[in-house]
Order: sequence, then structure tokens, then C-alpha cells
Amino acid sequence: MDLLPIFMNVRDRRALVVGGGEVAVRKVGLLLEAGAAVHVVSPVLVPALQAQVDSGAITSRRAAFEPADLEGVALVVAATDDEAVNALVSELAQARHIPVNVVDNPALCSFVMPSIIDRSPVQIAVSTGGASPVLARLLRARLESAIPAAYGRLAQLVERFRDKVKARFKDTNARRNFWENVLQGEIAELVFAGKDEQAQAALEAAVAAGKDEKVGEVYLVGGGPGDPDLLTFRALRLMQQADVIVHDRLVSKQVLDLCRRDAERIYVGKERDNHALPQEQINMLLVKLAKEGKRVCRLKGGDPFIFGRGGEEIETLAAEGVNFQVVPGITAAIGMSSYAGIPLTHRDYSQSVTFVTGHLKDGSMNLNWSALAQPNQTVVFYMGLKGLPVICDNLIKHGRSSDTPMALVQQATTPRQKEFIGTLGTMLKVIENQEIKAPTLIVVGEVVQLHKQFSWFEPQAYYGDK
Ligand code: SAH
Repeated sequence: MDLLPIFMNVRDRRALVVGGGEVAVRKVGLLLEAGAAVHVVSPVLVPALQAQVDSGAITSRRAAFEPADLEGVALVVAATDDEAVNALVSELAQARHIPVNVVDNPALCSFVMPSIIDRSPVQIAVSTGGASPVLARLLRARLESAIPAAYGRLAQLVERFRDKVKARFKDTNARRNFWENVLQGEIAELVFAGKDEQAQAALEAAVAAGKDEKVGEVYLVGGGPGDPDLLTFRALRLMQQADVIVHDRLVSKQVLDLCRRDAERIYVGKERDNHALPQEQINMLLVKLAKEGKRVCRLKGGDPFIFGRGGEEIETLAAEGVNFQVVPGITAAIGMSSYAGIPLTHRDYSQSVTFVTGHLKDGSMNLNWSALAQPNQTVVFYMGLKGLPVICDNLIKHGRSSDTPMALVQQATTPRQKEFIGTLGTMLKVIENQEIKAPTLIVVGEVVQLHKQFSWFEPQAYYGDK
């Protein structure tokens, strides 16, 4: 470690900024946020600084830097464009053991300013030790997006209850359990959902009840069509805090790999015609795990509420009084649309889109074929591979032209994505001697012809050798 990361209290302490330009403006702003008494020394001040002097937010001396400016100062920032002045400030400050930062010149600094993710009172600082401010900024952007903005509010809530909880739970283990439940469970989720009052009431009740055993709940999470980049932030967060992951075949390995490493994983199958566990047993398994006090992530392919039987799982949970939340995922048709370059609607070709199940039951599909055969619309069939002849046949029979473009897309958004393009009349021929890997979607509509022009996704290039 080259630098010691510390958070410094500068409230009401004198902070000197040497320089009066735009860089100084940013540093002054930061110091003011931390409550410092800011004094600026510079022959000229940009209007923003002048305005702060006028309003009394900061003080200034309009002249060149002099050693006497360091008198009584707790911290100095040199932000002039004159290297000699910056070097002098650094040298004199260091001789007096005053922490000094020279903007963009790590060699002259006794401390560096990190990139900050501010969720006050939670603060995260990122530093590359001056090696690359741009890299620090990029990391910061990642952290900004991964840490819910509500963390600050969560920390404030927790802070208000600290003493109460300390008094209620004398044993440190019990106290830790209690806080882990609060920070990773229902109460934190209430804060993230903006329900601060309910969260406070729940915390109040939890302290009063003195409960330190784990409370289980179920997260019904949409894992998207395959590419892990398509997960939502919420999905990722819950995948990483769950104790158990209950998943099936549609969830890609790359997505599964992002789950908490030491979480128990339970595979519940859903192989075509070979359901590893019947749906009722999956429903009861979720209830059982949650009642054991576990946080269960029921991870499903695509979106849980699109042909995912998520509704049934939730019905059972609700009936059994188990807490749950649902996280949307990118459904296969939406992922396929982008990654295959087939817009689902288009002003010139298609005014609506229908997602429909092409699951065969006793060799047929009970669908409203005359509605699906209307022109100027896109129809996406899920689970339709086996029923492909039935689909083509019925659409043509009910009046859709046999020239209507059609695509069969396998394993959309994954390294093995592949498109087979034809028409209602030719598709069966197109795929005749092809090896097609599940899962697949079937898209019918004029928009399919845009694929040639719009396709951008090259699995090999995108995923490298994976
Ligand atoms: N809940 C899922 C759908 C479950 S039904 C979702 O929202 O996507 C299962 C069907 O989804 C499969 O038979 C297939 O038609 C489709 N599917 C799921 N992932 C897919 C993918 N990556 N590529 C193509 N089709 C996919």
C-alpha cells in the first residue's frame, strides 16, 4: 500500500486554496461540503469564486501566495497554473507538516484527493494513487451504479437506532445477526423502495421483538436471456446476498456465476419433457427454504412473469405468508430483438407485437390463429421449435402470406446465438439439415427483413473465445 486511506475531519478548520480558477472552484466546493472554513489566495478570482466571497461562504486575499498564508491552516490545496508557485506551496507546507495537495502533480502531494461516491453518511473513496485519475473516475462510475442511491438513507436510519439496538442486544453475535437481517433483508429493501416510514416502523418492531434469528424471504429474479450484462442492478444485488439460489436450465452459466459464491445452489431442472421437479414441488421448496430463515433467490431465465410460471410460485408464497419481491428481467424476445437486429415494431412494417406460447399440447396449439395471421404485426413464439410446422401451417391457412419473413433464433444474446432466416413458406426447408440448439424463438413479420441491415452482434467477437 503506497498511501494510507483516511477520512479527515475538517469541519470549521481553515483550509487554504491557492489559485482562483476553475480547478480551484471544484476543490473549494468539496471542502465546503465537508464543512471547512475555506480561504482562497489568488490575484484573480473567477466569477463563481467571487460570488462565494460576496455571499460570505468563503474568504479571500486577492494577491500572490505568501508564506504567511499558511498560518493556522489545517490543509492546503495548490491549484494554480504556475508550477513554481505550486512547488513553493508544497515545499513550505510540508516543512510545516501541513497536509498539501497539488492538483495533478502527485509528486508534490502529501495527500491525494480520491474520486468519491457520496451516499452520506456512507462515503466510498477510490484512488489510483495518482497513477490514473481517469481510471479512478471510471471505477467510480461503476460503483455509483452498483450502490443504490438509498444507501445514505439506510445508513441514517440505522444510525438513529444504534444505541437502542446496543441496549437491546448485549451479546455482540446477536447484535451482528440483528444488523445483518436489517441491512440485507426486508427493512433495507423497504428503504430502497422509498418506503422510509414503513422501514422505520419495521425496525422499531424488530428491536422491540428482540428477534435476532434470520427471517427468510424469496426474491423472484429475472436473469435475462443469457448475456450477464443484461441483468438489472437489483437482480445482481439480490443474487449476491441470497443464501440459496434455486435455478433452472434457462439461466445461463455466466449469470449463475455472478451469484454469491458460497450460496447453496439448487437445480430444479425444466429440461424439455424432463422436468427435474414438478412445479408444485418447486413452489413448496421455496416456501420450505424461506421458512428455515433463508434468503432464497429464485432465479429464472428472461422475465419471471413472461411464460415463467412466476405467478404460480408467488401465489404459493403469498398463501403461506412468506415475504417476497419480484425483479424484472429482459425477456428472451426483447433480448433477441436487439441482438439479432430485428426491431419488434417499426413504423413502416409493424404496429404491434404479440408474445405467444408455441407449446404443443397433444400435437396442436390452442391459439387465435386468425388474429395472429393479420398483417402489419410481429408475432414472437416462445417454446415453439417442436411446433414449427403447426405454426407455419396455421398462419398460412388463416391468411398470412407464405412470403412473410420469419426468423428462428437460437440461444439469443449468448456466445452460441444463431439466426435462421426464411419465410413462412420456406422455414422448414431452411432448417432441414441444421442442428438447432434450444432455447429458440420464432419471429414472424415483415420486420425480420431488417435483420440483414441491422444485425451488429457477432457472438465470437463479443464474447472472445468463451
Ligand atoms: N421467462 C422466459 C421464458 C420462459 S419460456 C423469458 O422471459 O424469456 C422458455 C422459452 O423462452 C424457450 O422455449 C424459448 O422459446 C425462450 N427463450 C428463453 N431464453 C432464450 C434465448 N436466450 N434465446 C432464444 N429463446 C429463448
